[in-house]
Amino acid sequence: MQTKTNRIINKAEENLIHTYNRAELVLDHGDGVYLYDVEGNKYLDFAAGIAVYALGYNYKDYNESVKAQVDKLLHISNLYYSEPLADAAAKLVKATGLSKAFFTNSGTEAIEGALKLAKKYAYLKDNSTDHEIIAMEHSFHGRSMGALSVTGNAHYREAFGPLIPGICFAKYNDLDSVKALINNKTCAIICETVQGEGGIFPANREFLEGLRQLCDENDMLLILDEIQCGMGRCGSMFAYQQYGVMPDVVTSAKALGCGVPVGAFVVNEKTQQVLVPGDHGTTYGGNPLATAAVSKVFDLFEENDIVAHVNETAPYLMECLTEFAGRHRQVKEVRGMGLMCGIQLDESLPVGKVVSAAREKGLIVISAGLNTLRLVPPLVVTKDNIDEMMGILEKCIE
Ligand SMILES: *Cc1c(COP(=O)(O)O)cnc(C)c1O
Repeated sequence: MQTKTNRIINKAEENLIHTYNRAELVLDHGDGVYLYDVEGNKYLDFAAGIAVYALGYNYKDYNESVKAQVDKLLHISNLYYSEPLADAAAKLVKATGLSKAFFTNSGTEAIEGALKLAKKYAYLKDNSTDHEIIAMEHSFHGRSMGALSVTGNAHYREAFGPLIPGICFAKYNDLDSVKALINNKTCAIICETVQGEGGIFPANREFLEGLRQLCDENDMLLILDEIQCGMGRCGSMFAYQQYGVMPDVVTSAKALGCGVPVGAFVVNEKTQQVLVPGDHGTTYGGNPLATAAVSKVFDLFEENDIVAHVNETAPYLMECLTEFAGRHRQVKEVRGMGLMCGIQLDESLPVGKVVSAAREKGLIVISAGLNTLRLVPPLVVTKDNIDEMMGILEKCIE
């Protein structure tokens, strides 16, 4: 007999372009840090839809705000104002410590906007259009032609050339490799404060401070991509706040809407006048539905002191992982910042096998980089949830 799961998977595969090797899992609903599939199986979720569902599933207060907005207006275009848009922008600007925001529909589009801003910033100075941007090896910024151009994974870029010209790649956490690429055409450096897809690598303090200094000395923009590591995940609203380094532009998405598709780039005072009417736009970006969600997310982060909760639980997670690594030869290293952790596995143990084994035992985890297990749970995760996760992981490694 065909199960409901099989029926849905077959229908999906018949009709979708096969750009993902999806797990054989058809998800139906969620509650807190648990997900349920269509057969009624329960899963502890340490992936949060790739660092999106920061508040956990089925958060009543959040759901009610989004539903209330559905009954009012979903969309108005950017030809008009809405109250959710004004509120969300004010809260995002305050949280970043920057000056002005632009809402997009995804992280990728936030990157596009940031790249355009950097080019225009340089264009306003010298009227030329041959500026260069320095990006990092093993970075991930998205799949559109612009975002792909600055993504440091040759395999992702290979088939799609020519991409935007003038992009060069430095080694992450290697300031000298950045310096070596700077010339009088360089207009920006783009980098994740904590590399996510590349394998969970936090920036060193000296590296980030050094990038800031290089940008100041050469009048280039520092673009920090906090699409994955921002919004409380690393123990501060934005990870750069723990380094004492301010970007000129920050990109956000993933947990910004906690499930509603939304992104943003936020700029400082120096760059807030660079983009003017006609330079950039979007039909959906910042629509009342998305921004009502964003606005509510910021309220709930504050009411529940999510950042303090991350700082309370994250050291416990790291402690458990370090102890776990000490007992298993196949674990080479554990890395991370806050509730964004990576477990580097030995080549003898393919991460895909661990991900599948975990799923069979009721735990959802994902991979990153080269054979790294990635843990990016909802930020409301408790120590008990961490114990449960470690118990399952233990069985998977055995
Ligand atoms: C996910 C991600 C993106 C792309 O965001 P999308 O919403 O998938 O377009 C860009 N940068 C980083 C660091 C990401 O993790």
